[in-house]
Amino acid sequence: MKKKSWHKDTLAVRGGLDRSSHQETSEALYLNSGYVYDSAEDAAAAFAGDLDRYVYSRYGNPTVAMLQKRLAALEGAESCLAMGTGMAAMFMAVASQLKAGDRIVASRALFGACYAVIDQILPKWGIERVFVDGTDLSAWQAALSTPTQMVFMETPSNPMLDVVDLKAVAALAHDAGALVVVDNVFATQTGQSPLELGADLVMYSLTKHHDGHGRIMAGALLGSKDLIEGQMLKFYRQTGPSISSFNAWLILKSLDSMALRIDRQVENAMAIAKALADHPKIDLVRYPHHPSHPQYDLAKAQMRHGGTIVSFSVKGGKNAAFTTLNHLELIDISNNLGDSKSLACHPATTTHSSQTQEERDAMGIGDGVIRLSVGLEYAGDLIDDLNTALAAV
Ligand SMILES: *Cc1c(COP(=O)(O)O)cnc(C)c1O
Repeated sequence: MKKKSWHKDTLAVRGGLDRSSHQETSEALYLNSGYVYDSAEDAAAAFAGDLDRYVYSRYGNPTVAMLQKRLAALEGAESCLAMGTGMAAMFMAVASQLKAGDRIVASRALFGACYAVIDQILPKWGIERVFVDGTDLSAWQAALSTPTQMVFMETPSNPMLDVVDLKAVAALAHDAGALVVVDNVFATQTGQSPLELGADLVMYSLTKHHDGHGRIMAGALLGSKDLIEGQMLKFYRQTGPSISSFNAWLILKSLDSMALRIDRQVENAMAIAKALADHPKIDLVRYPHHPSHPQYDLAKAQMRHGGTIVSFSVKGGKNAAFTTLNHLELIDISNNLGDSKSLACHPATTTHSSQTQEERDAMGIGDGVIRLSVGLEYAGDLIDDLNTALAAV
């Protein structure tokens, strides 16, 4: 595309489009593992790196390349690697960049598997890890007074929607010599631009809002050309976390409507946060753009919208939360999120059940907490469903 300044909504539909000689309208699905060469010399040149072409789909595929270019355009990043799952992308970020003797500092309130990789896998390889309360700048400052190679954070966090001050922490991290990685799954590129606030790498589970229809697993890592296409690309080609072209094609088609979907989901989430805020059966509602959020001003400054997740705590702990979930008629009980269907879960016994009580307490995940991923249904129906279920408590 020649014009430099197409709006993101336009790039979501057309970014990265690479039509074949057949001039198809929609993005083509290249469902192939290998490629053929006109001559033995061409094959040799391709392997020598003298000929820029596809050689094997673990390395690259035209449909996957379209997705990577589109995601990079939407993020405002120079480069992108798409992968089979969000965790493959997370693992790529840490495993391709860190080595024995290095140190990583992370916010404590992370997606369960990200926490486990940092807490249990990295130490086996001699990497020191330090967790801090992501909302506490003085804790970051203290942890980053020691030279550090990587800072990893999730904001807003799962499930309590804590907000980390990206600009301030990125500055502290860079002073400590660290590369800054941000898990941007909850806000997505529609809601927050970590690279503009100082992050070096942005990580996604595309399984969530990008697919948006609960069909497939996928992930991505975005950043500068130097970072993504340096040692990371070698690591990617050799270790094989590649995304299937079919899944990449589904995400490409989902991106066409992502901004529209997110707009409606955010509108619904805000309506639900407002409806639950004064509910007599609820003692806490968390939504980043609701004025009751403890970091409302930061969330307003850093995020273009409040996201699609609302967390709330039902008075009466686990029993009350279970009663509420079991009386939902419309909203499904599911640990997935970012789907067009509204989904609710009890983090303490599902997504965060492998953490200890102490760790959950440190993250503020009480026994009454329900995490609600707000979908595309009519907001009034969702609020009715929640009110009916809460009435059973
Ligand atoms: C789902 C999720 C991941 C992991 O992604 P997968 O696609 O499930 O591998 C990482 N971080 C957050 C915040 C998530 O919600």
